[in-house]
Amino acid sequence: MRLSKFHLATVKEVPADAEIVSHQLMLRAGMIRKLAAGLYTWSPLGLRVLRKVEAVVREEMNRAGAIEVLMPAVQPRELWEETGRWEKFGGQLLKMKDRKEAWYCFGPTHEEVVTDFARAELHSYKQLPLNFYQIQTKFRDEIRPRFGVMRAREFLMKDAYSFHLSAECLEREYWNMYNAYTRIFTRLELKFRPVQADAGAIGGSVTHEFHVLAESGEDAIAFSDGSDYAANVEKAEAMAPATGRTAPAAALERVATPTQRSIDEVSGFLGVAAAGCLKTILVRGNDGLVALCVRGDHEINEIKASKLAELPGEPVLADEAEIVKALGCKPGFIGPVGLPDSIPVIVDRDAAVLADFVCGGNQDGSHYRGANWLRDARLSRVEDLRKVVDGDASPDGKGQIRLARGIEVGHVFQLGTKYAEALNASVIDQSGKSQVLAMGCYGIGVSRIVAAAIEQNFDAAGIVWPEPMAPWRVVLCLINPKNDTNVAAVADALYADLQARGVDVALDDRGLRAGGMFADMELIGIPHRVVVSERGVAAGTFEYRARRDSESRQLSRDEVLALFA
Ligand code: ATP
Ligand code: MG
Ligand code: MG
Ligand code: MG
Repeated sequence: MRLSKFHLATVKEVPADAEIVSHQLMLRAGMIRKLAAGLYTWSPLGLRVLRKVEAVVREEMNRAGAIEVLMPAVQPRELWEETGRWEKFGGQLLKMKDRKEAWYCFGPTHEEVVTDFARAELHSYKQLPLNFYQIQTKFRDEIRPRFGVMRAREFLMKDAYSFHLSAECLEREYWNMYNAYTRIFTRLELKFRPVQADAGAIGGSVTHEFHVLAESGEDAIAFSDGSDYAANVEKAEAMAPATGRTAPAAALERVATPTQRSIDEVSGFLGVAAAGCLKTILVRGNDGLVALCVRGDHEINEIKASKLAELPGEPVLADEAEIVKALGCKPGFIGPVGLPDSIPVIVDRDAAVLADFVCGGNQDGSHYRGANWLRDARLSRVEDLRKVVDGDASPDGKGQIRLARGIEVGHVFQLGTKYAEALNASVIDQSGKSQVLAMGCYGIGVSRIVAAAIEQNFDAAGIVWPEPMAPWRVVLCLINPKNDTNVAAVADALYADLQARGVDVALDDRGLRAGGMFADMELIGIPHRVVVSERGVAAGTFEYRARRDSESRQLSRDEVLALFA
């Protein structure tokens, strides 16, 4: 690609409303442009990266034996009524009407559509097993789209759905996909960790999430430092009761202290947390009004602190019963229930950096966190979680639990027969009997990966792409071509040579000064830079520098070519 004929649009200033580094750098590099909340145009540069990620995903899915399909993004209401998800899916489902007043949704996921396809296409066990996948635009009306394409409303997902006669066969494919995911994230040179996850509302039993490790991640994951055990915090907590973990009174004190807040502190917190606030609950603790909860799904009662009145959502003064109802947790879990002075603070899960965790307890200290605490612990700062979890051994008995933050980039599920039953998708088995299909589903956030990769790969100058997803592998920087036409000829020849060898190369022939050109190429993260200048041409050398290196080297033409052999 000759950059004089491309469209690059880099920006020097850090965009004011971009909170995390990947969002800032994607805007500064001119990879994406916002259309509206959670909706982004991928520029030619951004799209090159997206397509590279997509290509790796596609290659590994094909290698793993999955078969590509393409399903409609717009899906009829009737199908979603069959599984009950037209109502159950909630606010993330974007619903719309056509001119005949028939309802549709923009697909947030495709279990319904693919199962409809399967019930029409599959008749006999002889056709199984099968795994259909697509790479396609999804829409989820996220409560708070943010971080650019990291949590967008419209985003690109690879979603796969497998069909089987038996649970054993499903399990085999599940691990086949798990291994394919491991290959994908390894090839993309990401630091990642597969973790056990909670099946939650989607159904099924066995499920893993793949997390790219990053401090900016919205999810907390727990892992053992002495074994392979790793889980997202919801799952880790779900496991905890089975291990008989209880908290001694001293631990409660320890847990309680860091979360104790005066109303002033809480208000102060809120002032900052306001951007993420939806609605607010204040809890009356033993020593006054000390706790705060921000949630989007409960009744509004009464505004208390003056600071709270400025919030976009309305605060609520609630008693324990209301909180229990709102959070769906056990009585005694929250509120003044035996701890002298420890009503904790919960802050909006979207305001992760400010968040504290929920705890509560019984008089005897035997139960100090309900089954929900981990759901809310997602809110927590890692330091706070660490204080709580410190010293609880790993559920597998090997090593200590550690915590990290992660970005969910992939998710695999054994769904079982849930969707096939609802939609009546079955085949004839070996004995001629009709049998409901067992299903697995496997998602990857293709567009989210682009942002997640930047969270792990950047420096002061900009993005440092892992080679497999760089927009170009190497850039030839053409300096001052007007002073010596031979320079342009040398650059053209090297460019043609590299192209002929199949190297993904860009030629920066925009006529910029060296400083500006280098800054651009560093910002957009090109892994290799080769400078073609008058001085170099005269000496028969090229100045070469890898994006991660601090020094340049002078290379001969053959040495340059050998780098990309
Ligand atoms: P999250 O917990 O981040 O909301 P999810 O669990 O709702 O994600 P899945 O239903 O598991 O998402 O979808 C598969 C993949 O799609 C996720 O692992 C993630 O990488 C990606 N994804 C989900 N929601 C978004 C979004 N709003 N923007 C970008 N990618 C997303
Ligand atoms: Mg989600
Ligand atoms: Mg998730
Ligand atoms: Mg998920």
